[in-house]
Amino acid sequence: MKRLIDKLRHDHSLTGEEYASLLSCQDTDTLLYLQQQAREVALAYFGNAIFIRGLIEVSNRCRNNCYYCGIRKGNTAVTRYALSRKSILECCREGYALGFRTFVMQGGEDPALTDEWIEATVAAIRNEYPDCAITLSLGEKSREAYGRFFRAGANRYLLRHETHNEQHYRKLHPGDMSLKHRLQCLQALKEIGYQTGTGIMVGSPGQTLTHLVEDLLFIEQFRPQMIGIGPFIPHHDTPFGTEPAGSAEMTLKLLSLFRLMHPSA
Ligand code: SF4
Repeated sequence: MKRLIDKLRHDHSLTGEEYASLLSCQDTDTLLYLQQQAREVALAYFGNAIFIRGLIEVSNRCRNNCYYCGIRKGNTAVTRYALSRKSILECCREGYALGFRTFVMQGGEDPALTDEWIEATVAAIRNEYPDCAITLSLGEKSREAYGRFFRAGANRYLLRHETHNEQHYRKLHPGDMSLKHRLQCLQALKEIGYQTGTGIMVGSPGQTLTHLVEDLLFIEQFRPQMIGIGPFIPHHDTPFGTEPAGSAEMTLKLLSLFRLMHPSA
């Protein structure tokens, strides 16, 4: 097992079978070794520092109905809101004064946030804060819209694929959403020139070790600049409200594997 960890650190690549053996490994010494290697790499690339992002939740409205999500369209128990451009710029102003140099506009796929509105809001932030990174996390848009946001000054886009397995994707999302389209969006973002982020939920309902291996192989070849992973946490007002939460141990193991796979992500 330690040989596989060394190989991943050195080559940044493993076969599916090799990822599977590491994912199923429960040996404490091996897992400590994996953590230790990942920590060494993180310290070498980033130092002992915490990078803080100014995350602005711009809207909790969404046209989609992902089965795991607390702000899915079908949840009538949520009080919905969307921030005005003025409020977003006030957040940036306050954040900048506090030392934030990355602003993230994150929200559901709110039909009221038109492409024109997003483009103009990005341009307003870019105009006031030329020295800051602007990250968007606003879901699936057309390639043309992604291009417009980029030209208006956005640098980064987060769009987690959540699972790279078609059947598993179908278990997590209603029929009007498609994994193929999600992956096309990710490809478009990369081609436009965004620093692109993807990622997964760990322990989402129906997820198997084989699905995780598929995610590892996809992320290995896609080479995203950002990888967002976290455990599935059941939300009581969703169809998955009584499902068990994802495991913290598996999440940490995956974080270590991704650190060795893409050291600078
Ligand atoms: S697209 Fe995002 S915000 Fe909308 S329901 Fe799905 S996970 Fe939630």
